[in-house]
This record gives sequence, structure tokens and C-alpha cells, in this order.
Amino acid sequence: MPLLREKGIQLYIKREDTIHPFISGNKYRKLKYNLIEAKNQGKDTLLTFGGAFSNHIAATAFAGHEKGIKTIGVIRGEELSNKWQDNPTLQLAHEHGMQFHFVSRSAYRLKNEPSFIQKLKEKFGDFYLLPEGGTNALAVKGCAEILTDADAQFDYICSAVGTGGTVAGLINAAQPHQTVLGFPALKGDFLSEEICTFVHNDRWKLVTDYHFGGYAKVDQQLIEFINLFRRETGIPLDPIYTGKMLFGIFDLIKQDVFEPGTQILAIHTGGLQGIKGMNLVLKKKNLPLLDV
Ligand SMILES: *Cc1c(COP(=O)(O)O)cnc(C)c1O
Repeated sequence: MPLLREKGIQLYIKREDTIHPFISGNKYRKLKYNLIEAKNQGKDTLLTFGGAFSNHIAATAFAGHEKGIKTIGVIRGEELSNKWQDNPTLQLAHEHGMQFHFVSRSAYRLKNEPSFIQKLKEKFGDFYLLPEGGTNALAVKGCAEILTDADAQFDYICSAVGTGGTVAGLINAAQPHQTVLGFPALKGDFLSEEICTFVHNDRWKLVTDYHFGGYAKVDQQLIEFINLFRRETGIPLDPIYTGKMLFGIFDLIKQDVFEPGTQILAIHTGGLQGIKGMNLVLKKKNLPLLDV
């Protein structure tokens, strides 16, 4: 793209989105060791949490189906209980055998409370518990495998951030001369603390200016950027995570935050299954649609 040439920046994209058509990118990495652990513990059911557009919910359903583990999704939003069929992400999860349990937003907030988990055990029997977004120590271990020795040439490693598990893995795997930049896709100051519980160094930073108002919030400028990027590079981006990260990287490049000659590696974490659902929302709001 012209801006990169003008500023003398090399930007590479690591296509984790191509790992699998449904279990996209980082969600595959996050599930890998957890599925092994569930089997080791002799659990035949996996329970996890997510919102209506959650890539983690879609990925968990698909992986459970593939590995012969039952999956239960505790979904935020009671109102979805009689209209989840209209939601492409939940449709996909259902097709792969996930059982849903819809809860109100206030109940969903209790998702880490032992008493709430106990009630779920009484309802569904024993299960392997995976937190929201699939982030735990085993997920961070899986995400560290995104980087390899071949990535040593880069000065910066960039990733979108949701719960922080992916970027934590990257931080642990980065080399001493590399800085990891995380681009949160949502508002909130809790992320640094969460990431700190998993990482072993401080060569990282969160860039918090590109959440576009919060999780799954988008505007016309972002949609137009994603469509332009796809036309110029052939690479599709998702509107919730990778689109915001790349918008942010380009904005930082415009502001000359990076020296000429800097080499940047951006991780394409996937999430492309979410485009369909987002286009339904955009249509209702009379905004331009994402190219598919
Ligand atoms: C879930 C997700 C992220 C964020 O991962 P976390 O480990 O929760 O920070 C980034 N990109 C995509 C495409 C995702 O689906």
C-alpha cells in the first residue's frame, strides 16, 4: 500500500486466519492444550461463555464436534433465547452440536463466581470449564506457538486484544529485541492487569485508541478501511478485531510513530466468520456493508 512505501515501513501479516475455516486463528491455538487437558481429566463435556458474535463460541462448538466432546455455551442475553436462529454465529455453533444456555446480562456478569459455576454443574453435570474468550494459562501457552524463530527479523509484533490471552502468549514468545503492541477491541482498563498475570517480561504496550467505541462497535470509516485494505491486498479483515488493529497500525504509521526501516509483523487472528453477522447489523443501520 502506498503509505508503507512513502514511510519506508515493512508490514507483514501472519495469516493465522487460514489455519481453519471455522476455528479461526488464535481460537484454535487457545483450545489446543485445553482440549488435551479436558481429555486427560476424563471430561466429556466442555462449558464456556460468550456473546452473540463470539468467535470463541463458534470455535469451541466446532472443535468439540471434531474431538467428540459435548459443548455447552452460556450466552449473554436472555432475549436471544427465542431468536438465536437469526444469528449466524450461534447458528454455526448449533450446527456443530453446541447446547445453549441463555442468561441475562446481570447473571452473565457472575460468570467467574464459584456459586454461579456450582449452579451450572447442578444443571448440566460435571464439565471442563473454559472461561470467557477461552483465556487461561493453557490458552496462553498455545498462543505462544504463533511466533517462531523465522519471525526474529521483526521489530514490532502486533495483535488485536479481547481478553488478552493471545497477546500474552505473543509477549512470552517474543524475542528480547522485539516489542509487542496490543490493540484492544473494547473499552476498559482491566486488560493490562489481566495480561500481567500471564506474562514474564515488560516489552509490551497496549494501544487503546482504536476500539471505535467498544466491543463490536464500528463506524463508516472503519468499514471503508476494511474494504479498501481488502481491495488493495486481497486480505479480508474482520470488523471486531483485526480491522481495528490494522486501522490502528496504519494510523500510527501516518503519525510517524515508527522509524523508517521498521519491520512490523501483524497477526491476523481470524474472526472472518463474524462478517456475515456484522453485515446484518450494518444493513439495519443503513451503513455501508463489508465486502464478502
Ligand atoms: C478472540 C479474538 C481476539 C482476541 O483474543 P484474546 O485472546 O481474547 O485477546 C482477536 N482476534 C480475533 C479474530 C478473535 O476472534
